[in-house]
Amino acid sequence: MCGIVGYIGKNQAAPILLEGLSKLEYRGYDSAGIAIFDNNKIEVAKAKGRLAVLSEKTNDGKSVTGTMGIGHTRWATHGEPSDVNSHPHLSMSGRFAVVHNGIIENYISLKKMLIEKGFEFISETDTEVIAHLFEYYYTGDILDAMVKVINRVEGSYALGVLCSDYPDSFIAVRKSSPLIVGLGDGENFIASDVTAILKHTRNIYRLEDNEIAVLNHDCVTVYNNDKEEVKKEMFTVDWDVSAAEKGGYEHFMMKEIEEQPKAIRDTISPRIKDGRIVLDDISLTAEDIKNINKIYIVACGSAYHVGVVGKYVIEKLCRIPVEVQVASEFRYCDPIINKNDLVIVISQSGETADTLAALKEAKNHGARILSIVNVVGSAIANASDDVIYTWAGPEIAVATTKAYSTQLTVIYLIAAYMAEKLGMFTTGEYSQFVNDLQSLPEKVSEILKSKEEVQYLASKFFNCHSIFFIGRNLDYAVSLEGSLKLKEISYIHSEAYAAGELKHGTISLIEDGTLVIALATGQELFDKTVSNVKEVKARGAVVMGVTTDSHDNMEDVADYVIKIPNINEILLPSLSVVPLQLFGYYVASLKGCDIDKPRNLAKSVTVE
Ligand code: GLU
Repeated sequence: MCGIVGYIGKNQAAPILLEGLSKLEYRGYDSAGIAIFDNNKIEVAKAKGRLAVLSEKTNDGKSVTGTMGIGHTRWATHGEPSDVNSHPHLSMSGRFAVVHNGIIENYISLKKMLIEKGFEFISETDTEVIAHLFEYYYTGDILDAMVKVINRVEGSYALGVLCSDYPDSFIAVRKSSPLIVGLGDGENFIASDVTAILKHTRNIYRLEDNEIAVLNHDCVTVYNNDKEEVKKEMFTVDWDVSAAEKGGYEHFMMKEIEEQPKAIRDTISPRIKDGRIVLDDISLTAEDIKNINKIYIVACGSAYHVGVVGKYVIEKLCRIPVEVQVASEFRYCDPIINKNDLVIVISQSGETADTLAALKEAKNHGARILSIVNVVGSAIANASDDVIYTWAGPEIAVATTKAYSTQLTVIYLIAAYMAEKLGMFTTGEYSQFVNDLQSLPEKVSEILKSKEEVQYLASKFFNCHSIFFIGRNLDYAVSLEGSLKLKEISYIHSEAYAAGELKHGTISLIEDGTLVIALATGQELFDKTVSNVKEVKARGAVVMGVTTDSHDNMEDVADYVIKIPNINEILLPSLSVVPLQLFGYYVASLKGCDIDKPRNLAKSVTVE
């Protein structure tokens, strides 16, 4: 969650921190603050609410002078969003200022111990114990104090710490929460992710758990928790700055919807050579694949919905049983897995706390881990046996679109790759499948060309109170994502139902004028879903059907119809999701919602 930015250099720190934090707004937050070192003391400015409130309070940072500082956007976990609970937190004497992302799980016992030693707490946060612990352990050496603090705290943390005894450096560390170091020219940075500092540098260090960075303006030294220096390899980020900016679009979400053809192409192209799927990224041999007993797909939110599609696709193509589980459940369900099982974990950020914990659980049972992530070198990527990266580029809008689509693409690549190794395709079928896969970007572009049709439909329904999505098999899997997309950004209540299941209960919620979006794209179950459409129509529903160009009888039953191009049926989810993303977007836009930063949500959920 939240965002951290730190700066040391020759320029005024506060405006740089505020600008960096603005690039991290997409991560979700409820308050913001900065601490700046100047004239041997630390000045703090913080405020509940949007970054704009803090900018106004500090005259865009100009009223807080100094060339070294740390900044934070908070997503409250302990204590309500308020000025006093906002970060940075100061130690009692004001010598230390701390920004923290994550949760200190043993903060209650630490707080009790510190209170007994005479420390006074002013906030309700878990973070404040860190500020006081620094003071408690400090004997003149900040690195030494840092080591003692991290040996004492349990949980997850990315920390940036200023100490008023150190006019020329500050210190940072991470464990299970993201933090990178940016290496500039005469200036250095820390940040939750590169988008915050891309304007200043592309050269970064990725910190491993409990690696401590000491930043001066002209050098950064990294230590392990034995205070031994660690030699770090520098990464150069090849993302374009514009990739993390809106580029003329009103919202990142629309920009990212439009980027899907490119993102899908970038993800597929390097992995198809001479008409064959080549997954150099992974070490699974044909023998390994033959020996797979069962596949688990574990993920959260939209990535979980990719998993639901994955189940249908892998079972159909490979005939290997697949179970899809929500990561927060999987980690505590004492899963029955062993070394002959493959666990596929999916996470855009590669830092999703629940997914990472589920991965570790699976690993403890000896399962092999294949992850699908978008952020190179992220925690999930590092902890996996094999990684297939989605090449979606930075995704800024909280509601995922291009990351979902590229994750889906990777699922297709994996399924077809395994099916081919298992001898499940005839030669003709395989090359047809690979051709169809390669045609996805073009077909998504085709759908995007008629986005105004979806906008028109959104204008008819943006005042609805409740919207249902129904479909069978793959259409049901996509309904889940369509419904989530709509409700997370437009705040309209919505549910996705397996079309045949509606009559077992929820049909009682259908009344005159209720909108039902019915996906009926596949051939085999088309008539079955049409019967379900008739059932809801008979109870007063207004129906918007989503189907392929080859089905012209949808118009006979549905009030409105959205058509998508024909393609191999298994690949239809990559197409049918697009009008649903557009529908959610336009409905939210007509309602005037904060599309890129929906309330209460965070982009990368790094807490349990
Ligand atoms: N647990 C801390 C708090 O509630 C940090 C939350 C965050 O990661 O923003 O203040």
